[in-house]
Amino acid sequence: MGIESISFEKLVPDYVKRFEPYIPSKPDRELMKLYGCDHLYRLNNNENPLGPPPAARETLRRFNPPRAAVYPSGDSYYLRQKLAERHGLKPDQFLVGNGANEVIAFVIKAFCQEGDNIITADKTFAVYEWVAEFSGFKARLVPLKNFRFDDQGMLEQIDERTKILFVCNPNNPTGTYWDEATLRRFLDAIAVHQIVVVDEAYIEFVEKNDCPDGMKLLREYPNLIVFRTFSKMYGLAGLRIGYLAGALETVDIIRRTCVVYSVNGIAQEAALAALDDDEHIRRTRELVSREKAFLAREFARLGLTTQAGEGCYVMIRLPMSDTLAYRKLMAQGVMVRSMTGFRYPNWIRVSIGTHEAMEAFIKALQTILAKS
Ligand SMILES: *Cc1c(COP(=O)(O)O)cnc(C)c1O
Repeated sequence: MGIESISFEKLVPDYVKRFEPYIPSKPDRELMKLYGCDHLYRLNNNENPLGPPPAARETLRRFNPPRAAVYPSGDSYYLRQKLAERHGLKPDQFLVGNGANEVIAFVIKAFCQEGDNIITADKTFAVYEWVAEFSGFKARLVPLKNFRFDDQGMLEQIDERTKILFVCNPNNPTGTYWDEATLRRFLDAIAVHQIVVVDEAYIEFVEKNDCPDGMKLLREYPNLIVFRTFSKMYGLAGLRIGYLAGALETVDIIRRTCVVYSVNGIAQEAALAALDDDEHIRRTRELVSREKAFLAREFARLGLTTQAGEGCYVMIRLPMSDTLAYRKLMAQGVMVRSMTGFRYPNWIRVSIGTHEAMEAFIKALQTILAKS
């Protein structure tokens, strides 16, 4: 049914009418039926192939079922204490959300009003743009330069209605990042006229040592907000938990737009346990680094153009449509991310998985390339 045919059409704001809803992929079982495969390697969402850390698994196993009837801590009390200890900040400098996805909405709701805009890149994590647009705010998209966020280009787009600039560091999907000098130059240029969000969803995967830790810059820049998540390195994507950090006075403002009880109790406890497991981080980094090197050799052998940097994913350009490649790979039990939605037609993004998964991916890729 089209939106024109419903009787309360007048109730719907134009910016909601214009917005195309995101269609999530079907459950694995349905996909396997649809594509006729009996196994599925999930390489589309940058999930941790090693799963959650052992301590978090133990916490999940021990969760006492009757506690499901009781509301969780409304502000993730103990988790914020632990995060504060870790980063040398105060608990009130953190806001925990139902995934980092939710904290994006907290920040936009806190600072934007009618007529305002946000600035980000054209080829990055799309949720900043989406939340802005379906909330009625303009998202100004600055093209990447050499696969990297264009700092000068973003500064040039600022006008008196710009409230927030979103930088994904390192960038999903290109793996590029701003070094500390670049980020500082950007923050200095902005002074405190706008909010700068640095999304560090993949910071725990970074191997280069000139990539800044946004947490360390919070003291100097009261308009800086840093995002982190438990979905990627910490292997808790299914529990939905992520957070933001900022200066006390900035977080005090954002707290007003943050929905209480959106973070469930079991996620809070698992996250708390996951934070202690440095060994799990080490093992995951080792796996990602080893398998990235394996893929690089295979892509070179196949003569493919790729874009890889930091993070647990790489992009590959194909001599065919990415949506067609997606379907052909699915038929062989390999799920990747087709990149048309990221404005990279003919590219796919593959998440780094176990060696078995990487071999299955290369084998499937070789098959579809031979036939195309
Ligand atoms: C995955 C991801 C997030 C959000 O993750 P949540 O699961 O909502 O915590 C945020 N930013 C980027 C760049 C991501 O890739």
